[in-house]
Amino acid sequence: MIQIHRPSRPKISIYSTKNTKLDRNLDKANMLRNTLKNLIDKNDPNYASILERLDSGAKFTRAEVETLKAIAFFADLNNFNNNKKITDKSNIKFTVYKNDKLKEHLKEIFNDKCAYCESKFTHVTPPDIEHFRPKAAINPFTNQVDEDLIYPGYYWLGADWDNLLWSCPLCNRKTKQMIPDEVEPTAVGKKNRFPVITNRIRNHHELVSAEEADRLLIDPCRENPADHLEFLLDGRVVAKLNDQNEPSLKGEASIPAYALNREQLRIWRRQEGTTLKGLLVGIKNTIINLINEDDPDEKQSIKDDFLELKDIIKQMFLPGAQYLAQKDVVINDFFKKEGLEAIGLTKEGLLN
Ligand SMILES: [Zn+2]
Repeated sequence: MIQIHRPSRPKISIYSTKNTKLDRNLDKANMLRNTLKNLIDKNDPNYASILERLDSGAKFTRAEVETLKAIAFFADLNNFNNNKKITDKSNIKFTVYKNDKLKEHLKEIFNDKCAYCESKFTHVTPPDIEHFRPKAAINPFTNQVDEDLIYPGYYWLGADWDNLLWSCPLCNRKTKQMIPDEVEPTAVGKKNRFPVITNRIRNHHELVSAEEADRLLIDPCRENPADHLEFLLDGRVVAKLNDQNEPSLKGEASIPAYALNREQLRIWRRQEGTTLKGLLVGIKNTIINLINEDDPDEKQSIKDDFLELKDIIKQMFLPGAQYLAQKDVVINDFFKKEGLEAIGLTKEGLLN
């Protein structure tokens, strides 16, 4: 898991083209309008202009309409109360996040890698467009996969740009996996999971920023996962210790939530690390050979080998390459142990 730079919301039609009616059916639109007027606080600066537009009968963007319908359904105390769903009505369907243009942008930002495990996977299975804060229901526990959900979820963030990530199904869904220190497969994966320390925002008038200090899952778009996770040479990942030797709470909560220690993932991380280590040993030997060689033709041939190896290693660190967090551990460990500065090789020199 590595930090991802998320640019501001793209100017795509779902977010910027106001061409959608509140509802095609006039009666339904009027009912919705009246419901929303009761559920939206006119003093909330985030919704003031929406209320004005509701009155004027203006059109909305697709994202706005879906969010307004979500507010009308999920914030209605006849449907949800006291963290429980009390209506038989089925939940409204969220679809805006599946928009093709939106997917294109997410694919690019996340370099077509899972936001959580850094695997390349879309050549074998389609991506999950993952809601970081779950939209319909919340699993508030750090070590329990999907029981005792609280309702509703973060319904007003169903189409929110900053809440959407590119994820592989094994990180995003519940599966049973072999994880370290367990003798049987254990249920892991994110699904509806979103634990917080204490304070949780519960409705559309509350801002995500009010919950940030209590958030327990790592958001790779808002912080550097390296502050909370320590990848080990054997492929495992553990919660990073702070100066007082206490493990990071975010690290502890995020490892099972994103199934970061599942067996196959550990094997692949370790394997990529081993491949990199082999190349690093190769480049070290090439430099030593170069130093010891006097024949100009041989020297040139070794130089060519060096450049070829250097290029392969550089490719392994491109933003779109898998398991960069793991490779960083391997390369740092190699330079620390080998003392390569003496033969003129530095990590920066190698990767630039
Ligand atoms: Zn993943």
